[in-house]
Amino acid sequence: MKKHNFSAGPSILPQEVLQKAAQAVLDFNDSGLSLLEISHRSKDFVAVMDEARSLALELLGLTGKGYQALFLHGGASLEFLMVPYNLMTKAGKAAYLETGTWAVGAIKEAKAFGETVVVASSKDANFNYIPKGYSIPGDADYFHCTSNNTIFGTQMTEFPDVDMPLVCDMSSDIFSRELDFSKFGMIYAGAQKNMGPAGVTLVVIKEEILGKTGRSIPNMLNLQQHIEKESMYNTPPVFATYASLLTLQWLKNLGGISAIEKQNNAKAELLYAEIDRNPLFKGTAVKEDRSKMNVCFLLEDESKTEAFDNLWKAAGISGLAGHRSVGGYRASIYNALPIQSVQVLVDAMKEFERTA
Ligand code: PMP
Repeated sequence: MKKHNFSAGPSILPQEVLQKAAQAVLDFNDSGLSLLEISHRSKDFVAVMDEARSLALELLGLTGKGYQALFLHGGASLEFLMVPYNLMTKAGKAAYLETGTWAVGAIKEAKAFGETVVVASSKDANFNYIPKGYSIPGDADYFHCTSNNTIFGTQMTEFPDVDMPLVCDMSSDIFSRELDFSKFGMIYAGAQKNMGPAGVTLVVIKEEILGKTGRSIPNMLNLQQHIEKESMYNTPPVFATYASLLTLQWLKNLGGISAIEKQNNAKAELLYAEIDRNPLFKGTAVKEDRSKMNVCFLLEDESKTEAFDNLWKAAGISGLAGHRSVGGYRASIYNALPIQSVQVLVDAMKEFERTA
């Protein structure tokens, strides 16, 4: 039986994506060859890369607005250093918002390149809120933030208006909600939450912000190189890119980001309502900053952990354990998770209240 998959990442993908991807591994486009055994320069794969790049921009509403989409190796973690390499001027500085473990990682890499100003941090409360009311130095080369904090279950709802490029790590909420994506100079996301399997990273970049650092950038880390080579500077992650394309096609057929956002809102409301109603549970993030992707909660009485764990496991739920730095539970309710799975979890929580 298929499990209700609440894994934080790699995480659930639409069933039809898994089926089509599996078929392409066996026989791609009725070619008599596997997707995994053809040249990335073949007509069939070039078409995959081209469509993935244009569909990513289309879904984000960025077609024809000076942006390029790239499907690269290295994960979001490599972008932590590609951002300063490509955007921080030699004598310049960058501004960062510190909202969790991944923001800390991005800041650490930036510091190796130059002055890195942390404009605000929620570290004082184990990152359970999004700092607000901070000011950003006007002479920074860019401002970097993390839209959704996968580990701590917080999510930004407002993004500052800045005169410099706004750079955002959207690894765990890309394609989940409507935003004015044209506010951003650069968006990046590891695929393995809302877009596809692990192994590929989406980078969306406004071309005009590149080429201003005065740095000599190694080719593999140079976004202009990747743009020039149409995301094929070297052999791209072919399978992960293809499965990401299938997920983007699935999203488009569903009605795009506005349609999935409605489903995501309904799922989050259902689960948070139960956390707030049920006296046995409490949420960890402050209410106004709660994530609609990663729902973190604790048992009021930790001695009942085993009993609750037995109950949700018996209900066919998988991947509910919280990250070690928060403890408790984390229900990741990404795009591909159906509301029926959230209902199964809510029913298990109600059952726990009746029987605990
Ligand atoms: N940023 C965020 C918000 C993440 O959730 C993650 C992974 N969980 C990363 C960065 C790191 O991504 P990767 O493993 O692709 O380097």
